[in-house]
Amino acid sequence: MKCPSCGKEEFETKNIRFTPEIKGEEVEVVAPASVCARCHAPLMDAAQMNELRRRAADRYRVLHGLLTSEEILKFRHALGMSQVAFANYLKVGEASIKRWETYYVQDPVQDEHLRLKCDEVYAEFNALELHWKSHPPDMYSGNRRFSWELFKQAVRFLIKVTKSPLFLNKALFYADFRHFKTYGKSITGMRYIHLEYGPCPDQYQNLIQCLMRDGSLAAAGHHQIKSTQEADLSVFDDEEIQTLMLVAQLAKQDQGKRLLQLSHEEKAYKETEPLQLISYEFARTLKI
Ligand SMILES: [Zn+2]
Repeated sequence: MKCPSCGKEEFETKNIRFTPEIKGEEVEVVAPASVCARCHAPLMDAAQMNELRRRAADRYRVLHGLLTSEEILKFRHALGMSQVAFANYLKVGEASIKRWETYYVQDPVQDEHLRLKCDEVYAEFNALELHWKSHPPDMYSGNRRFSWELFKQAVRFLIKVTKSPLFLNKALFYADFRHFKTYGKSITGMRYIHLEYGPCPDQYQNLIQCLMRDGSLAAAGHHQIKSTQEADLSVFDDEEIQTLMLVAQLAKQDQGKRLLQLSHEEKAYKETEPLQLISYEFARTLKI
């Protein structure tokens, strides 16, 4: 190998900064290249070129919230598939897989498709969102459309005193039903079902999983979870905050054990069947 600038035949490998253009946008990356020992002109072999292209593509992907080549590769390995099998699974050409796993940036639609087919929690959340969107507010949502943001902040607020999913679920039930009792609307728009352990948010396992996954909640020892941040109460109005405070106060002494017992005595619970949705009309007879 001869330096094209000065003709010297001595090179060393160095990490060099490059600013290649990806989809019309300049990105900054550092990648290994052979550099002339005399004049410092970089000269890259095929492997180094490929590495630079992959790093540049991944830099662009990170900046645009797209899956990186490594994440796509991880998805395929988690499914135990060859590139051919993965291509069939995603209904795309094998060449697309080879390129996505290296230097070719998938477009946003392809990115969404990859997540829906490969990321279980993402797919579940998508199904939940569809469910919320396709169910207009009614007596089972407390006359309110479900709000993920309000639900999330209510969880963050109430988990501080309840500490476990079991008690948290009861506190959420009481917050929403109590608010409906007074104001004719729930706080979060959540639907509750009759489970063996009392009234419970519909799909609560998926919901908790989504909250753990997005970093809002974290495990905190034996069957306990905690919020990773303080609840942002600015998303609630004053009446909603009052209701949440009231329920937190009731749960404070015993984590919500009393609320758990009480929930089993509610008409909302006694007069509904297992796995059935609970109508907010029962809020009128609520014991708190
Ligand atoms: Zn040179």
